[in-house]
Amino acid sequence: MKKKIIVIGAGVIGATSALALQRDGHEVLLIDRDAPCSGASFGNAGGIVNGSCVPTAMPGILKNVMGMIGQPLSPLSIRPAYLHKISPWLMRFIWQSRLSTVQQNAIYLQSLSHDAVASWKKLTANTPLSCLLRDTGWLKVYESDNAFNNTRNALNLHDQVGSAYEILSAGQIKDLEPNLAPIFKHGFYQKDSISVTDPEKLVLGLVDLFTKNGGSYKQFPVSEITTNEHSVTLKGSSGYLTADKVVLAAGAWSKSLAKQLGDIVPLDTERGYHLMFPESTGSLLKRPVLNGENSFVLAPMNKGMRMTSQVEFAGLIAKPNYSRVRSLIPCAKRMLPKIDTHEESVWMGCRPSLPDSLPVIGFSQQSNHVLYAFGHQHLGMTLGATTAYIVSDLLGNREANISIFPYQATRF
Ligand SMILES: Cc1cc2nc3c(=O)[nH]c(=O)nc-3n(C[C@H](O)[C@H](O)[C@H](O)COP(=O)(O)OP(=O)(O)OC[C@H]3O[C@@H](n4cnc5c(N)ncnc54)[C@H](O)[C@@H]3O)c2cc1C
Repeated sequence: MKKKIIVIGAGVIGATSALALQRDGHEVLLIDRDAPCSGASFGNAGGIVNGSCVPTAMPGILKNVMGMIGQPLSPLSIRPAYLHKISPWLMRFIWQSRLSTVQQNAIYLQSLSHDAVASWKKLTANTPLSCLLRDTGWLKVYESDNAFNNTRNALNLHDQVGSAYEILSAGQIKDLEPNLAPIFKHGFYQKDSISVTDPEKLVLGLVDLFTKNGGSYKQFPVSEITTNEHSVTLKGSSGYLTADKVVLAAGAWSKSLAKQLGDIVPLDTERGYHLMFPESTGSLLKRPVLNGENSFVLAPMNKGMRMTSQVEFAGLIAKPNYSRVRSLIPCAKRMLPKIDTHEESVWMGCRPSLPDSLPVIGFSQQSNHVLYAFGHQHLGMTLGATTAYIVSDLLGNREANISIFPYQATRF
């Protein structure tokens, strides 16, 4: 039955969901407090990685985190002023790093991500957006035996859940990416993965497709959400909106709205950064390449080479600190000697993250008129289309093709 549905948040999760719901025959209104794609979806590395099964909290994480704090090139930083706020989240995060929990989380991540590519190809088939997806695979490279050997636990998880990969030699890395410096001894390659040449263009294109097909978009910052037996009402600065169903896809900002419905979710943000190098540098690599030593990605895009990096715990409000991503420029040069490292632009975005690395997908405790779809941490681009199909199945009263039980807001 056709329903009136509002989707809150026009990032990749909200945009894909709005389109899938519209194709299911519903009357859909997509809203955002800002312009579409102004959150984390704007500046990611564009990887759509099948079989992304490795949670961030892995065995030994406590020791790793302690070792990283204070190191200038470390991929992790915590603003001192935010330490007391993030501490409960960090405690939960460390609790998630027990081997049995890690193995369970890996299974749940694999269920969501194993057909990420197929979902994206289905969602974008016969649209102009399909040309933004490239069959490139996803490559990680390591200079030292030590850095590569430290990935042993992650490789075991891939084996246990049946997530395909290849281990590459220095020669095989060179064959794939001749412009990389000949310093990488080990490679990890997920051949079936794809990448997006312009994440912003993809998300804006989804919104454009949705509105051209009759969907509506409205700038509307939601401050309150209330439900009754039949509907949901959203309060914003310009009035009220009512719908039969609401999808909450407000990324890292979803926590306070879920709380109004009685769901206390340990959602925080792992802030990440990118730096764009000139357009001419975009052709130096054929695919995104993750530097395993320093945990940054060089991702070739239509507009140039994008270097993404960092997990910074500083909350949603603090000003960006671009110095850490800039400090990686010499590492990018060492990795890709021909790169022109002139800075074209720099950006910070808020990954929506839960301590177990799983998103929240499922109905609110209070009402099955509100469906949550947030908390996709490092994998929102990967899981965008898969999440959209789950959302449209659930709101279409169909069973989703995977059990959504592990992703419920009440799991904490
Ligand atoms: C540096 C970096 C690199 C990354 N690389 C990758 C990658 O290669 N592959 C991958 O899969 N993922 C990657 N990610 C993660 C991915 O970008 C995120 O998981 C994803 O963008 C989250 O999408 P979202 O739609 O949930 O949130 P967002 O894109 O943040 O969208 C949320 C939207 O909700 C709106 N909103 C918030 N509050 C309200 C409100 N009260 N009322 C109305 N609207 C509201 C916001 O304005 C925003 O537009 C990366 C992230 C970063 C930061």
